[in-house]
Amino acid sequence: MTATDRVKCIICDRMILPTTAQVNDGLCAQCVKIPRKDRETAKAVHAETNPFDRAIDMYRNLIDAIAQQTSKNYFGAICDPVFESARFYTFDNIGECFDYDEAQEIGSDEVDSIEHYLLAAQSGNSLLSPITAILRSISPSFNSQGKVIFFGSWGMGTDEIAWFIRYLNNRSTSLNYMQENDLSEIEVDALNDAFTKELNR
Ligand SMILES: [Zn+2]
Repeated sequence: MTATDRVKCIICDRMILPTTAQVNDGLCAQCVKIPRKDRETAKAVHAETNPFDRAIDMYRNLIDAIAQQTSKNYFGAICDPVFESARFYTFDNIGECFDYDEAQEIGSDEVDSIEHYLLAAQSGNSLLSPITAILRSISPSFNSQGKVIFFGSWGMGTDEIAWFIRYLNNRSTSLNYMQENDLSEIEVDALNDAFTKELNR
């Protein structure tokens, strides 16, 4: 058999033997491992020149839509510790930490489908910088209503939560949070180097 006999895998375009295609429903040996229900997403991800940018667009549309749905005081994103996935929550109040029992998640179905997409893209990129950029764009309208935008990960300390509240919101909003939680600005400033580096990665 010659190379010209080969056909394209219908997901990843790798050239495969017709016999392989026949046995694997048109897929190469790698793509056939993708569960049937994920194959449409895998195909869409492959067709995308930059799947991560596409995922960020999906997050932007989602945040714009769900941000308006809350009457709570706090709206924002909580991530895993390396910021590779983000979910969206509202709180009446954030005290010294993110309390799971106090949180109300919104947009969970939409987030599931974005995560599904990101998983297929295997981007492994940090969402820290893109998601905070989106949150910063909506914070002025929240702040004008006395509401607060937040970003973080479960288990963050008060100083870390305050750092992101200061990064995302106007001055008086962040001063309020620090005051309510007996935090000095010096304590928050101590995180400047670490988080600035993280944001510019
Ligand atoms: Zn393939």
